[in-house]
Amino acid sequence: MHAVGVGECVPNTATPPSICRSVQVSPHTITGAHATTFALTRRSITITVPELTQLSPRVFAFSTGHANAYLWRHGRGVTLVDSGEVGRESLVLDAIRRIGRTEQDLVRIVLTHWHHDHSGGAAALAELTGAQVCAGRADAPVIRGQRTGAPAVLTPAEEPLMARIAGQVAPAPACLVHRELDDGDILADPDIDPHAELAPGAVVLAVPGHTPGSIALHLSGERVVLTGDIAGHLKGEHIALGPFNTDREQARHSLRRLATLDVDAAGFGHGTPITRDAAVALAGWTDPLAQ
Ligand SMILES: [Zn+2]
Repeated sequence: MHAVGVGECVPNTATPPSICRSVQVSPHTITGAHATTFALTRRSITITVPELTQLSPRVFAFSTGHANAYLWRHGRGVTLVDSGEVGRESLVLDAIRRIGRTEQDLVRIVLTHWHHDHSGGAAALAELTGAQVCAGRADAPVIRGQRTGAPAVLTPAEEPLMARIAGQVAPAPACLVHRELDDGDILADPDIDPHAELAPGAVVLAVPGHTPGSIALHLSGERVVLTGDIAGHLKGEHIALGPFNTDREQARHSLRRLATLDVDAAGFGHGTPITRDAAVALAGWTDPLAQ
């Protein structure tokens, strides 16, 4: 094994899930928000529109390209879990509109860890919307740009995968973190809307190992867990321990903990969400890149 710097991560494959689609629209429907996502052709304009997967009544998944992101609709607002890489902000805003909210409704951005494919868009989105940024305590200084993130320790099986994806994601701009999260913290709707009907909100689970400050979110009312990069899932395959960990044994321990949750749906940092019987799938996790 040897240590390398890592700022992006894709489990078991360099190909993210195919949950983006392109649509053809006439030029007059284009707005400024799409400016970074369309390509002009002679006869039409193609916009990449995030295709949403609904995990529960209020939780939605979409791909930001190299990684997944999630929207939790609550009260009159919405929480974004992971921002995607820098430059995908308009795609995130499109997804927010598609669940019936506006960019002014984005009240909170939760970052599962500091890697650039998960945190790169947070600074711009927070500035645009005024959303509060939350992240695990140990990763917060990296997200703020105050220090460099700890390198991953690669197994031999991970080395060619890293070689394929290295350099594909731009570094994340420094981002203010308003709230540092610890294990057991609750992201409650009453924090932002005392009349919100959903309780108890999302419980923060510290799941170190991928990075020291990695977190997962357990939305017990929705029967959903969002794992971050502790786990990944390719359609038709077992849930797998995510690659590129700072401490693999710690990561395995963290995934064992998530596998005890009683949930119906699970969303991963990369790969296909599971929308039913997720607890059974989590209990059957594997570690195919261990050697
Ligand atoms: Zn990662």
